[in-house]
Amino acid sequence: LVAIDKARNPHLSATFVSKPLISGVLEKSKLLPVLNPSDPTDTVGTVQQATAADVATALSAATPWKADASERAEILCRVADLYEENFGKLFALLSREAGKIQLDVVGELREAVDFLRFYAAESLKQNASSAGLFTCISPWNFPLAIFTGQISAALAAGNGVLAKPAEQTPLIAVAAVALFHEAGVPRKVLQLLPGDGPTVGAALTSDPRISGVAFTGSTETAQIIRRAMAANMEPSATLIAETGGLNAMIVDSTALPEQAVQSIVESAFQSAGQRCSALRCLYVQEDIAPHFTKMLFGAMDELAIGNPWEHATDVGPVIDAEAKADIDAYVSKARAEGRVMKELKSPVEGFFVAPVAIHVNSIAEMEREIFGPVLHITTFKSHEIDDVVAAINATGYGLTFGLHTRIDDRVQHIVERLHAGNIYVNRNQIGAVVGSQPFGGEGLSGTGPKAGGPHYLPRFCKSKTKE
Ligand code: ADP
Repeated sequence: LVAIDKARNPHLSATFVSKPLISGVLEKSKLLPVLNPSDPTDTVGTVQQATAADVATALSAATPWKADASERAEILCRVADLYEENFGKLFALLSREAGKIQLDVVGELREAVDFLRFYAAESLKQNASSAGLFTCISPWNFPLAIFTGQISAALAAGNGVLAKPAEQTPLIAVAAVALFHEAGVPRKVLQLLPGDGPTVGAALTSDPRISGVAFTGSTETAQIIRRAMAANMEPSATLIAETGGLNAMIVDSTALPEQAVQSIVESAFQSAGQRCSALRCLYVQEDIAPHFTKMLFGAMDELAIGNPWEHATDVGPVIDAEAKADIDAYVSKARAEGRVMKELKSPVEGFFVAPVAIHVNSIAEMEREIFGPVLHITTFKSHEIDDVVAAINATGYGLTFGLHTRIDDRVQHIVERLHAGNIYVNRNQIGAVVGSQPFGGEGLSGTGPKAGGPHYLPRFCKSKTKE
């Protein structure tokens, strides 16, 4: 409670000033403001962008982590302790910089701490060893958990790391890296370069001194990085990419309606739909559709949209003005085509988008991932189930999939045929439940192996794991 009490958490009203954390002399460069997406009049802080010269300085200082495996593991566990001790600050930053509701903030912090402890333990178990340099590029939607997962895996294996946070969320990254340094990770081993993708990201993914890149973000950016690496790096350089999805769910007529409705609302609208795992396209069996969608729209009416601070809020803002404009334009088009089935109201100030349900005939009509609280709905007849599975597979993505049914044979039948990294049966369709649960996709959704699984760490190792 101290964390969320404005009077007792000084980080809720502080203004943060952050700079690149590199080993060497920083070039002077412009400061950019970081705004609170639920209240753009709240400037959370300013961040000094890394320049091309800063990237060059960082690259020439960078070094693998030469400490032995047990020392590395011990230090990473100390980072986990420091994350817990600095809960109030990290809480405030996740809420103000990323616009997260309290439930999401707590979940994310727990996941980040899990990653640190998991990779520390796993590196000892696997006797992981490497002597490379890794670039870690992370997105804004889990600016602490994904960022920490990538970095802690790379460090646990003994690499040096150059990390670039997303443009929208540099402050939490600076706060986190400061804790790694405080715990004993040398400054030359872990350097942070806030800046934009085309300058800083591109420089860090095309330098031949880099032996691998861990990336989470859009499929398009992953493809740009793959090309940059192919042109400039050793053929043996590693790309570990976690990208987008067009995630579907099937609800058949035997499903428990209350359970399915609750899971849909959480899967599509929690985190304002800004999860790569979020439900995008719902298939409801035709004979239950009228009653079921009525129940679903009733449950949507219960959602409270607004300030992520309020205890009652279910849906906070989307990340920035650009994201809001993109989603609003998409919804306006659907509205003009008469396809909006249900729409809530959103606050006027701030970057809010109201949860909405849009009719489609098939997932094949969805051209791209809309990264917000937008659920597409369609129906199917019982005998069409294989066609539905084929249409979902044909998107080429394969991240998450949800299924609500009481027919065991159907679970088996679909799970065998459907291409998705994570399948959720009769429960909500989210990402990893804890940091140590393997999570990741197939096809256009990523290169594998799954983060959090035992196969992730060996990909950060130059020399293979000793058995
Ligand atoms: P999103 O749509 O989630 O913003 P992006 O793929 O654009 O996804 O961004 C994910 C991360 O990739 C961010 O840190 C961004 O700065 C970085 N990025 C964007 N373009 C490039 C690039 N050309 N090279 C390397 N990194 C990039």
